[in-house]
Amino acid sequence: MNIVGVDLGGTYVKIGLVNSTTGVITKKTQIETKLELGNDNVVNRIAEAIQKLTENETYSAVGIGSPGSIDKENGIVRFSPNFPDWHNFPLGPKLSKLLNKKVYVENDANSFVLGEKWFGAGKGKNHIVALTLGTGVGGGIISQNILITGTDGIGGELGHVIIKPHGRLCGCGNYGCLEAYASATAIVKMALERRKKFPDSMIFESNEITAKTIFDAAKQNDRLALIIRDEVVNALAIAITGFIHIFNPQVIIIGGGVSRAGDILFKPLVQQVNEMVMPSFKNSFEILQSPLVENAGILGAASIVLQREKKI
Ligand SMILES: [Zn+2]
Repeated sequence: MNIVGVDLGGTYVKIGLVNSTTGVITKKTQIETKLELGNDNVVNRIAEAIQKLTENETYSAVGIGSPGSIDKENGIVRFSPNFPDWHNFPLGPKLSKLLNKKVYVENDANSFVLGEKWFGAGKGKNHIVALTLGTGVGGGIISQNILITGTDGIGGELGHVIIKPHGRLCGCGNYGCLEAYASATAIVKMALERRKKFPDSMIFESNEITAKTIFDAAKQNDRLALIIRDEVVNALAIAITGFIHIFNPQVIIIGGGVSRAGDILFKPLVQQVNEMVMPSFKNSFEILQSPLVENAGILGAASIVLQREKKI
């Protein structure tokens, strides 16, 4: 069976035809989102791109991972901070009408955890916590094989647990959120703020400072980079320890650009979490890097269909 996965982003919409048994993306394409052209225009172009991609192919349904708060029953984008005119926008029904297919919509961070469950590091597991460390910090929880989203469907905002009272300002307006310490944006900010104090840091030799520049410098034992790495690890360890105590997950999967730092991030993180959890939780979990990399968005979106229809 083929499924179409649509990863709706602020800049690009990535679309893939996914073999639901193997998790292989057999065809993919991307279009610019061009939000400024209006929501109907975006949906029309998504439909055209899907039709073009699936010419001479068959597929059963479409899954869309969308930013924001989603009414999943009705496929409506209720509110999305970066998509201002998508307020109560019936994305699912509109696309469904254009394609004459079933369309399922889910929040993109939730679709990330679904992608891990069906095709990634959470395969075969029913208790998964997933974090994406990118521009922001997204989160998703699967417990007893159920995606946990709460009464309004907007739960699972793991990036906005407060890990430090009166801490760094977060994009959400609160202070001390995990996102303000562990997103790529925050990591770069932490370096720039200390430029005066550490003018000789290797980090500033680069023209464009990114989270990657900083972790690469940490691998070379750069002092500032190691201070920042420790701060990121500390923030993640506090949050993840909490998630472990609440959900007792088999696995915590970390994706997004920052996760590509690899061992320099994961090794101290696993060690610190094991030091912080209650004795009965020690070594009860794994903390793994997402293996899906740049396909996480499309595979996550395709998994929405599998989870809703619970077909294997
Ligand atoms: Zn926040």
